[in-house]
Amino acid sequence: MSDNGKPKFGMYWASSCGGCEIAVLNIGDKILDVDAVFDIALWPVAADFKYEDVRNYPDGYIDVCLFNGAIRNSENEEMAHLLRQKSKVLVAFGSCAYEGCIPALSNFTSKADTYRTVYLDNPSIDNPGGVLPQPVNRVAEGELTIPEFYHTVKSLDQVVNVDYFIPGCPPEPHQIWAVLQAVVAALTEGAELPPAGSIIGAGNVALCEECPLAKGEKLIDRFYRPYEIVPEPGKCLLEQGLVCLGPATRSGCGALCPQVGIGCRGCYGPLDGVEDQGAKMLTAIASIINAGKVGDNGQWLDERLDEIMDTIADPAGTFYRFSMAHSILRRARVNGAKNGGAQ
Ligand code: SF4
Ligand code: SF4
Ligand code: SF4
Repeated sequence: MSDNGKPKFGMYWASSCGGCEIAVLNIGDKILDVDAVFDIALWPVAADFKYEDVRNYPDGYIDVCLFNGAIRNSENEEMAHLLRQKSKVLVAFGSCAYEGCIPALSNFTSKADTYRTVYLDNPSIDNPGGVLPQPVNRVAEGELTIPEFYHTVKSLDQVVNVDYFIPGCPPEPHQIWAVLQAVVAALTEGAELPPAGSIIGAGNVALCEECPLAKGEKLIDRFYRPYEIVPEPGKCLLEQGLVCLGPATRSGCGALCPQVGIGCRGCYGPLDGVEDQGAKMLTAIASIINAGKVGDNGQWLDERLDEIMDTIADPAGTFYRFSMAHSILRRARVNGAKNGGAQ
């Protein structure tokens, strides 16, 4: 508690698109309740705090800190350690902090290839000298430093201990509000919080369980990209050949995407006890494709399987879109080395 009796609230963005910040603002007029209950101790998108302010807080000064964004560079990692030290409850907020999300798709390639694409091969870049960002630059006025860009993107819990995880890209406002209410009840009324390490603000069954679309037992002969077919209303998208990660994704969003004809991309992450969401989804896919039957010729079966799976565009990016950093893979081997000799 702070000296004025109000709990301190912090929110921070590391490697983030900003969507998680906006999601908090999307709780609407309840944001006034947040303001009434909490003192803001750090919230770069909403208030002008400096890192030095945070460094000067006593340890544990912030009662609850929502940390969004992945760990992409040395600044992100430094802030993760600082906010761990200054926060009683540190929450990995949103898919980037929880499991790497979109930034961690770069774990399929190397730091060198990312730099090449962004700073050298990008058609809108004019960089004849091939200049690449350097952590330290010496200029006439002295030494300039920028954060070091890492080879591998990590989730928050891969660099510091995390108390809770709120999944979603971004988390849904009604769930954010439920979590904030629970924290307030714990701080003001002594109510119990869930056990440390819990996933909060989400369901604990597969998304298919809360999806209203009708499921059958149809086998499919090929997959389609969303622009290639108009799905039949009211029917399961996966059974119509649209990739939908509902069987491998935690519920909680209300099946927002399938309800508007777009397959779930998996942003609420895997279910309890599932270590690798992509592998789990591949298992689900295997059970619905029409790739032959027991007794069919083995070579024909292999070819048939390849033919169907080839209709999935970018399988790695599809099945690991949100979970790459947290998956069993963590990152792809590039140039023959698991970590390319870097971080
Ligand atoms: S989880 Fe999604 S909305 Fe939140 S910062 Fe990451 S990409 Fe943006
Ligand atoms: S559309 Fe997706 S979420 Fe809905 S039932 Fe089918 S697979 Fe599950
Ligand atoms: S349907 Fe899937 S991708 Fe869409 S919001 Fe829900 S969990 Fe995320």
